[in-house]
Amino acid sequence: MFDILKIRDDFPILSRQVNGKPLVYLDNGASAQKPQVVIDAINTAYAEEYANVHRGLHTLSTIATEKYEGVRAKIARFLNAGSEDNIILNSGTTEGINMVSYAWAAPRMQAGDEIVLSIMEHHANIVPWHFLRERLGVVIKWVDVDAKGDLDPEAVIAAIGPKTKLVAVTHMSNVLGTVVDVKAICAGAHAKGVPVLVDGSQSSVHMPVDVTDIGADFYGITGHKLYGPSGSGAIYVAPDRMAEMRPFMGGGDMIRDVTRDTVTYNDAPMKFEAGTPGIVQTIGLGVALDYMMDIGMGAIAAHEADLCNYARNRLDGLNWVNVQGQSATKGAIFSFTMQGAAHAHDISTVLDKKGVAVRAGTHCAMPLMEHIGVGATCRASFAMYNTTDEVDVLIDALELCHDLFS
Ligand code: PLP
Repeated sequence: MFDILKIRDDFPILSRQVNGKPLVYLDNGASAQKPQVVIDAINTAYAEEYANVHRGLHTLSTIATEKYEGVRAKIARFLNAGSEDNIILNSGTTEGINMVSYAWAAPRMQAGDEIVLSIMEHHANIVPWHFLRERLGVVIKWVDVDAKGDLDPEAVIAAIGPKTKLVAVTHMSNVLGTVVDVKAICAGAHAKGVPVLVDGSQSSVHMPVDVTDIGADFYGITGHKLYGPSGSGAIYVAPDRMAEMRPFMGGGDMIRDVTRDTVTYNDAPMKFEAGTPGIVQTIGLGVALDYMMDIGMGAIAAHEADLCNYARNRLDGLNWVNVQGQSATKGAIFSFTMQGAAHAHDISTVLDKKGVAVRAGTHCAMPLMEHIGVGATCRASFAMYNTTDEVDVLIDALELCHDLFS
């Protein structure tokens, strides 16, 4: 059973006050709060079980290695990735996509080759492709969203030409909340022989994800949005693509043998994990995934769908608020401006005085902001621990803003 009171109790920060008001944390799209079990796991790892992984034969190194390596299987289960060998551990989606750009895309692309992106990508799924544009002369082809903020899979598939080498799309927009039909995109792209990278940073925290069913070639997740520590994450890489990748970073752990003249690499996925990793962060991520899977991703999605409907109705009732993105598949992320009101930064400052934490700005999605013709928005993004009462606090605070600024 989804017990919201118990869940809220599990997150110690939710009982604190901010500016003399109970915290209403609606900046989950940027980073989620951590349950006590994750905080405890981090403490235990440092206080009782800390050593470097993989290399040591002593007891602490063995414990740390077992705990760290155990997370790979948890991520594989969380994503239905088939095998833990398809999971590369990293510091988050930004690293994951940069790795794909360097290790998979760069060696197989030349001037004039194309990458298809949607206009609602986060900079983490744009800038690594600009690197290839700058360095190799690769062409980025953009596919726009429609007026509701929907991305038509057929438009993405139609943008794929003979020179397209990769499609890279988000599963859920961090600005509009649109959930994209990435399964249809993968099917259409594969029919044309083109692999698909899916940015799962936002989606993976809100819904059950099955990378096998989706058919993604690459699927990136980031731990700090999954109620885990910052600096943790992973990318699923389909076996065929994994076999095509050249090593990304060089260093310890990713090698089998090094001589003065030669180097032989470890097997995948270790081949793509050089150096001392985020040991404790990754262990914390494993505990966060256990926590989510125990509650059930279906139950989390159902709670958030109710929350989303409630927030949508209440925001729709404020005719001076413009919510960006009206997709039928919209998840619980609301970016908005206020008619005739002050800048998003001013609104966010007033909300903060009421204890309400939202993000304001361009949300690392400047091409999308240009497309929708908005300079900056406030963004309220929800998590499993948010309640309809908190939506009401947000609405009251917005009404105060309206009074102040109109
Ligand atoms: N992609 C999307 C859609 C995001 O929302 C974010 C973070 O805000 C990222 C990528 C980057 O994630 P990270 O900074 O954790 O690597």
